[in-house]
Amino acid sequence: MYDVIIIGAGVSGCAVARELSAYKRKTAVLERSSDVCEGTSKANSGIVHAGYDAKPGTRKAALNLRGNILMESLSKQLDFPFQRNGSLVLCFEEAGRGKLEELLERGKENGVEGLRIVEREELAVLEPNLSDRVIAALYAPTGGIVCPFGLTIALAENASVNGVEFHLDTEVNKIVKIEEGYRLETSKGVFRTKVVVNAAGVYADVFHNMISGHKLHITPRKGEYCLFDKTMGGYVSHTVFQLPTKYGKGILVSPTVHGNLLVGPTAEDIADKEGVNTTASGLETVLERGEMSVGHLPAGKIITSFAGLRAHEEGNDFVIGEAEDAKGFIDVAGIESPGLTCAPAIGEYVAGIIQDILPAERKEDFIGERKGIFGMWEAGHEERKKMIHENPAYANVICRCELVTEGEIMDAIHRPLGATTVDGVKRRTRAGMGRCQSGFCAPKVVEILARELGRDIGEITKAGGNSGFLTR
Ligand SMILES: Cc1cc2nc3c(=O)[nH]c(=O)nc-3n(C[C@H](O)[C@H](O)[C@H](O)COP(=O)(O)OP(=O)(O)OC[C@H]3O[C@@H](n4cnc5c(N)ncnc54)[C@H](O)[C@@H]3O)c2cc1C
Repeated sequence: MYDVIIIGAGVSGCAVARELSAYKRKTAVLERSSDVCEGTSKANSGIVHAGYDAKPGTRKAALNLRGNILMESLSKQLDFPFQRNGSLVLCFEEAGRGKLEELLERGKENGVEGLRIVEREELAVLEPNLSDRVIAALYAPTGGIVCPFGLTIALAENASVNGVEFHLDTEVNKIVKIEEGYRLETSKGVFRTKVVVNAAGVYADVFHNMISGHKLHITPRKGEYCLFDKTMGGYVSHTVFQLPTKYGKGILVSPTVHGNLLVGPTAEDIADKEGVNTTASGLETVLERGEMSVGHLPAGKIITSFAGLRAHEEGNDFVIGEAEDAKGFIDVAGIESPGLTCAPAIGEYVAGIIQDILPAERKEDFIGERKGIFGMWEAGHEERKKMIHENPAYANVICRCELVTEGEIMDAIHRPLGATTVDGVKRRTRAGMGRCQSGFCAPKVVEILARELGRDIGEITKAGGNSGFLTR
């Protein structure tokens, strides 16, 4: 019998798991994919929002501000990439100034610091590549960017080191209320638990509706993106938004923490909870609307495109808390944007709810810090020499685009909750994230995975399940 079972190893589930790992309880995470961070948490803008968007008084507003504040210290504790690069919301016509002022006031009410409106002359200095159409912008110095994989994997690894069990490839099919709590029927057998945390992303309504009479309805809202190569990374230094629409924050142009340029997302309500395909029309919209902000975006520099699904709940706010008619069943549902930003605060908030339901003592031996994978690409000459001296595998470059060595890939495989798939290696080390998009390094990564895991080459997959490689 578990004390707490979390369904879903996205950023929300992993943030809750990490907070709970500081307490003396038996906790597990059940995830249907073969790795953590395989849902929406892997396909988003990676922005740490300042907090001027959400309506004052909502859960989103409160958690956004708190998450933004916590992200900086968490990035140091858990060693994942985060930068406070600041953001701009662009206004293209005089008629839009009222909306810009509204955002400014809303942000102030939400407690966001440093917000101000900047005019065209100052903008030309802040961001020289902005299009001539821009007349003014809301500047938010506390906006930031984060690596979504880095954040989620760091939370999960740290939770695992502190004793939380991660059951991957474990799909929850049914939840039944029992006297002591809940019975979860999964693809890997039955689990019993006193408390359930429902962090299943776009599927959170399915689980909620299995045990509660007050129904939730989550609509997948698709967002498509173009990612440009690193020669475009300096095109803007701030995250550049446009004034929001009723569907969200509009198309943004932003540097990523690894020096690429990201443009997107669209916003389209769809029925398919697995519908993460990109479309020609979606990508055209991304480029057209992106060019309103920054002028020419050369399509030849796009290295990949992708789409993610926002878990949009009709109430337009996060649904976090114990379900009214199901004691011990805690929803972390409707976590659309800014869910990534809020994750550290969501973890803290949910841990507080569980402490009220099922009080537990804090562990004296909780390990709050974690060291990420050593990156040869960012290391100095002396550091590189030292690493190669200790392990010659650090001299063997596997991914030439991103300068990732065999030593880093071996670390990614052997650390807690290590990579078992090619995508798992990619998200932990960046091997395959560059210009050639793994065309050259994937076969070598497959070989290293097979060797280090003691498996046959034919057993190694791209991302678990049936995503095998053709080996002849
Ligand atoms: C286009 C787009 C842009 C965004 N941009 C930003 C941004 O810039 N900044 C920001 O703060 N937020 C952003 N967000 C929001 C953010 O990405 C999400 O709020 C966050 O990733 C949600 O995380 P999650 O853990 O709740 O869901 P997910 O990451 O989807 O995790 C849910 C997990 O549950 C698992 N699961 C589902 N069903 C089952 C089952 N039956 N059994 C076991 N496991 C199951 C899934 O496999 C998945 O791993 C964006 C979202 C989108 C779509």
